[in-house]
Amino acid sequence: MFVAILKEARPDETRVALTPDGVKALAAKGATVAVESGAGLHSGASDADYQAAGATISTSRDELLASADVVPVVNALPTADQQKLKSGSVMIGFLRPLDEPAALEAAIQRGATLFSMELVPRITRAQSMDALSSMATVAGYKAVILAADHLPKLFPLLMTAAGTIPPAKVLVLGAGVAGLQAIATARRLGAVVEAYDVRAAAGEQVKSLGAKFLEVDLGGLQTEDKGGYAKELSPEALELGRQAIARAALFADVVITTAQVPGRRAPLMIPAAAVNDMRPGSIIMDLAAPAGGNCELTQPGQTIDYRGVTIFGPLNIAAEMPVHASMLYSRNLSNFLQLILKNGELKIDRADEIIAGSCVAFGGEIVNERVAAALKASA
Ligand code: NAD
Repeated sequence: MFVAILKEARPDETRVALTPDGVKALAAKGATVAVESGAGLHSGASDADYQAAGATISTSRDELLASADVVPVVNALPTADQQKLKSGSVMIGFLRPLDEPAALEAAIQRGATLFSMELVPRITRAQSMDALSSMATVAGYKAVILAADHLPKLFPLLMTAAGTIPPAKVLVLGAGVAGLQAIATARRLGAVVEAYDVRAAAGEQVKSLGAKFLEVDLGGLQTEDKGGYAKELSPEALELGRQAIARAALFADVVITTAQVPGRRAPLMIPAAAVNDMRPGSIIMDLAAPAGGNCELTQPGQTIDYRGVTIFGPLNIAAEMPVHASMLYSRNLSNFLQLILKNGELKIDRADEIIAGSCVAFGGEIVNERVAAALKASA
């Protein structure tokens, strides 16, 4: 199996799909790995590091595309690259198959097999391949660091000879992987933290991190699906949450929002009216910006000032921590790749639950019904 690691094409991308440690793990299983020169530079890995791990270095992207059996990526290759893929090769990464299925068509026409890291089922055996959780961990941490940097206040309680500085108040909306990491980070910096989630199970986790859980009585409504994810809520239930959030936001210095419902637009949790009532100098860090945002005023990809409240809508926050984001992602990917690598050869067992769940296309045929429907809808 010949694996090629390319420089990411997306302009704001700093991560790399496989680090030198990932190369070592694959080489130990008999794979041959080549790296496009400079692919790891932003993530702290030089060409020499890759060579020391057993990879060869190439300056010809086209040659790599034309000869690779497997191309692990962070983001899907651009169309022009997909057209140069060897027929029947494998591309694996954050392919956004439900959001942008049309952007994968050129690879599918080349007869490619596509695996989406977003679709890896969240079963116990796949935990070491859970790239969404890895990136959410990095994002939750970085969101707090960015907010603390921008806030015109200190985070911790300080008692000085000149008087006492009260701790910053942080409100976290959505207590999944990113939200819990944000809570832990804000607590470590000394903030007082409050959090909200529709899943009752999140309440215990929030409290165990030393934060207060914002209780909202949804009248016993079932808010979780079988997989433990939040369901899309009724307008009435969403409104109850919004009212409680608006009350808590009045006192917050920083609001970090992470609420998402897989496959849907992010729920609207902070209407413009609630921002009107927030204190000037406060901050909203909207991690749901890639899915439309949890705040009505968020502009994805931009930072805006609304009556003194700064609203951040980062689209690729994990890329702002490329060394550790790449390290985690590379481990997730190399664990996945071990599933399709047998005695140094590519061998795809389509009966495997992880492979079946994450496979978008096999040999140029779309095999995921939701992706087929999304492609039809986008046509
Ligand atoms: P996510 O990114 O899809 O959503 C983030 C959070 O937003 C979730 O906690 C969700 O409940 C919350 N949310 C959605 N709509 C909301 C609304 N209207 N109001 C308030 N909150 C809302 O979720 P995630 O972080 O990827 O994880 C979700 C769940 O999956 C968690 O229970 C997590 O522990 C679990 N999980 C399991 C595994 C596993 O391997 N078994 C791995 C990762 C996560």
